[in-house]
Amino acid sequence: MTDSTQKHAQPIWANIIFFGLSFLAAITLVPWYGIQYGFHFSSWAWGIGLWLFSSTSISMGYHRLWSHRAYEAHPVLRVILAIGGCLALQNSALHWSSDHRIHHKHVDHDEKDPYSASLGFWHSHIGWLLMRRDNGRYNEQYDRCKDLQRDPIVMLQHKYYWPLSIGLNILVPAVLGMAYGIFWEMMLVAGVLRLVWSHHLTFFINSLAHMWGSRPYTEENSARDNIVLAVLTGGEGYHNYHHKFQYDYRNGIRWWHFDPSKWWIKALSWVGITSNLKKVPVEKIEKAKAETLLLKAKDRVAHLPNAEEVMQMLHDEYEKLVQHLAEVYEAQKQWLEAKKCKLKESYEHSALMENYQQLRKRFEQQKASWMTLAKQYA
Ligand SMILES: [Zn+2]
Ligand SMILES: [Zn+2]
Repeated sequence: MTDSTQKHAQPIWANIIFFGLSFLAAITLVPWYGIQYGFHFSSWAWGIGLWLFSSTSISMGYHRLWSHRAYEAHPVLRVILAIGGCLALQNSALHWSSDHRIHHKHVDHDEKDPYSASLGFWHSHIGWLLMRRDNGRYNEQYDRCKDLQRDPIVMLQHKYYWPLSIGLNILVPAVLGMAYGIFWEMMLVAGVLRLVWSHHLTFFINSLAHMWGSRPYTEENSARDNIVLAVLTGGEGYHNYHHKFQYDYRNGIRWWHFDPSKWWIKALSWVGITSNLKKVPVEKIEKAKAETLLLKAKDRVAHLPNAEEVMQMLHDEYEKLVQHLAEVYEAQKQWLEAKKCKLKESYEHSALMENYQQLRKRFEQQKASWMTLAKQYA
């Protein structure tokens, strides 16, 4: 931590007490209660259900919908996500998005990134919530989120955030506890333990997802792709991709990548609840991957006696790959346009399709030979 960062840090006592006590209760009272009285299935089922609802609201709502505007959502869904966000107890969508936009803009900057991983695990995980640094981001106007201020649901949630959050986090487990006749068990499991668990999993995206995992799309920042974190956070663990292409509604780009938020957003688009889903073209993604591999190889090659010769070879292969990539996607565009114009049966349509398929094959061959070469050095 730099001198100036330390100098301006002020303890936020309300957070220190809240995070400290809730964590202590989760690791002492919960197991004590279980040993003493045993647990019921219903408290764990509701705990898991409420965790999934609140963490999905953070991922689908706070993160992809409001911070990044990666898609649009029907007001009913926005209300549901705003309620889930209150249950997650991570501040209002407006405040959260403001911090998160700064994180992307100044990622890894000691002073400007609110939860910069460059200041270590503790700071990026929870330290930034316990010690306020005077870096000018707490401006009440939320200037970076003017667009969100036009959303009445965001503003209503922001206005009544604290009564809503505190009310929901106490009332929901309390009512459930009374209904099942296990008041204290429900308060501990679906209330305290669920909240602590969901907090720390989200915090792992700011800490571990910037430290542990691979960087296939960019090495310009510390963000990592990590499947374990993706599973634990509803798909948020593909963080390297996300920092490279933040406006994509997907974090895990292949359909089988574990990213439930992406599956929800896509599925809801089939019934018109979500729309305008933003997706980065495959061409751009492939190029980013190839470029990252080239840069990685560059570093490793520098010390070799024949560095210049190897670099030239890598460059030539890379250039060829990028050129083939551009050609294949241009051909694909032409073919798809022809398809749209109902040229389905025509000679022109099948010629375009054939051209595309040939270029695609050539690109795949080039990609394979590029990967073999680059991976020898990267
Ligand atoms: Zn990040
Ligand atoms: Zn983000």
